[in-house]
Amino acid sequence: MQSTVNYLWHTDDLLGQGATASVYKARNKKSGELVAVKVFNTASYLRPREVQVREFEVLRKLNHQNIVKLFAVEETGSSRQKVLVMEYCSSGSLLSVLENPENAFGLPEEEFLVVLRCVVAGMNHLRENGIVHRDIKPGNIMRLLGEEGQSIYKLTDFGAARELDDDEKFISVYGTEEYLHPDMYERAVLRKPQQKAFGVTVDLWSIGVTLYHAATGSLPFVPFGGPRRNKEIMYRITTEKPAGAIAGMQRWENGPLEWSYALPITCQLSMGLQSQLVPILANVLEVEQAKCWGFDQFFAETSDILQRAVVHVFSLSQAVLHHVYIHAHNTVAIFLEAVYKQTNVAPQHQEYLFEGHLCVLEPNLSAQHIAHTTASSPLMLFSMAGETPKGLAFRDPALDIPKFVPKVDLQADYNTAKGALGAGYQALRLARALLAGQELMLRGLHWFVEMLQATCRRTLEVTRTSLLFLSSSLGPERLSNMARMPEIEELKRATELRSTLRALAEVLSRFSHNITETQTNLSSLSSELAKNRDQVHEDRSIQQIQCCLDKMYLIYKQFKKSRMRPGLGYNEEQIHKLDKVNFSHLAKRLLQVFQEECVQKYQTSLVTHGNRMRLVHQARNHLRLVGCSVAACNTEAQGVQEGLSKILDGLSHQLLQDRTKGAQASPPPVATYASPALRDLGVHMEELCEEMKLLAFDLQDNNRIIEGLSRVQSAPDV
Ligand code: ADP
Repeated sequence: MQSTVNYLWHTDDLLGQGATASVYKARNKKSGELVAVKVFNTASYLRPREVQVREFEVLRKLNHQNIVKLFAVEETGSSRQKVLVMEYCSSGSLLSVLENPENAFGLPEEEFLVVLRCVVAGMNHLRENGIVHRDIKPGNIMRLLGEEGQSIYKLTDFGAARELDDDEKFISVYGTEEYLHPDMYERAVLRKPQQKAFGVTVDLWSIGVTLYHAATGSLPFVPFGGPRRNKEIMYRITTEKPAGAIAGMQRWENGPLEWSYALPITCQLSMGLQSQLVPILANVLEVEQAKCWGFDQFFAETSDILQRAVVHVFSLSQAVLHHVYIHAHNTVAIFLEAVYKQTNVAPQHQEYLFEGHLCVLEPNLSAQHIAHTTASSPLMLFSMAGETPKGLAFRDPALDIPKFVPKVDLQADYNTAKGALGAGYQALRLARALLAGQELMLRGLHWFVEMLQATCRRTLEVTRTSLLFLSSSLGPERLSNMARMPEIEELKRATELRSTLRALAEVLSRFSHNITETQTNLSSLSSELAKNRDQVHEDRSIQQIQCCLDKMYLIYKQFKKSRMRPGLGYNEEQIHKLDKVNFSHLAKRLLQVFQEECVQKYQTSLVTHGNRMRLVHQARNHLRLVGCSVAACNTEAQGVQEGLSKILDGLSHQLLQDRTKGAQASPPPVATYASPALRDLGVHMEELCEEMKLLAFDLQDNNRIIEGLSRVQSAPDV
């Protein structure tokens, strides 16, 4: 046990060890509060006094939630060693997070954004206090869990500031060369004298490397054999890096340097976030002072990302989920433009459904009106037909699974298990994404089909109503009534017009038949989709992969423990060998499930989705055409009927005159018409006139409904 006036700790509770100090978990003697105490070792006292006190002084100046708090500076009772009493960060460092095989290919998007937010805020506080950290790296970014279980990251270890006066000490003490600005690297690692002053850009460079590491799980600059093996090449990579590149590597001994301008495909960050992050990385990982961003620009650009909200958009034609980052103060037009950048679907061709409902996004509205989405409940984007769905792009995790060396090598076996487990977790994530992708394809199509079915129902209703009106006024006996009087010119014309109406009625009847056919096809597609969704929900591949991973993890943990030991006894070695065999079997099984259950099913579903999309787009085009044609028929019928009305009106007027004349000539009784046939016709005409007026009215009404319908379903060009 060790203690200061106010704090007490057990030397077993070691949290970490640096070159100048050991850090322990300690308790406040009165309150029991947990703290971290940094106890300086003898080597640290060999440093000049002003260097020794600098860390206390710097920490005393700082007060920010993203910088580890200094509570007190005390001394141990026995040996009077200086002790820094700090806020206890219970969840390790960003390095330990990245060392977790689950994060072998980088952090998930949400966690990455938390890291970015915390590091930027902490850095800004340092900057406001005129402090350059000079040793920023994942190991110096501590993590603790907030009250709601969220990660909070804090910058720590302010011992490096200005200790660079002593190059040798810097190398031996800090040894964090992978994150060093090339100018510092040249002086401290390659030990070449140079006069450059190290400003805030050295911290920006380290932040760039740290963020790249957090985003991908790997370092950005890697010579063949690793950064520590080939320091000259490491220096060449960082200094020869072309503008815009964010990573460089040498694949083989003395091989050429290869540059990357984008994050690797294994990275978990969405393309939406990557497109904003990559320019920032490219500009802080810039060795030329004149070209490198200053802190103000870095702060402005990162804050811009952090102030944005994400809208999840699933493009049904591509079968790809997009994350679209927008500001709350943006207009919908800016959102549509951002979607265009990611999907290549022009704003006027974008149409959205959310939770099964048509979602009309007026370009002038504020983006705040866009629904609150999640990855599992995104906006569904419909667009031009004809695109073959490309689906999720990924790298086969099998390519990243290393093989064990045949002999027992505890360190190498641990590394292999760690690598394989990392690839296994990647397979699990991909399996989840592939399954979620299938679910979204089916759900989106289901909504699409429902929308078309509703359109079918409405168009059919309108068509049938028109038909009903037309046929009721086109009874054959009425037509024959008229046909009996061929000598009257108007009647001849009326007969012709009524034939036209009859022809139109036949066309409408064909349309009605067509729509019913489309409806039947859509219904059977709908039941197929429901069946497929059940299959997706019943899929057990995720659980199978998870089960393999759990078993692999236990073996990995055992290997992690063993690697610290100098060697294993005979029995332990046998168990170790069997574990290796077992681990390899599990990895193989995991990959088999991934390939055969997840990838193959996904690819089949992608092809089926493409075919179905073509079908529904055809159905939609067809329905739009039918809708337009029904409207055109109605308009024509209306015109014909108006002409007919006019003729009939004229005729009945004429007949009325005849009747009146007849009545004046021989008052009462019966004969008001010139002949009985004309009398019949007269009565009939009056009836028809009334009917025609009603029909004209109904047809007009129908046309209005059809116009409304075609507006609703008029996704441009679909
Ligand atoms: P040095 O200055 O000697 O490098 P550090 O300040 O980096 O020492 O601390 C060494 C290790 O102790 C860190 O890597 C970390 O694992 C652990 N550590 C440091 N500060 C804390 C803290 N506040 N809470 C928990 N662990 C800590």
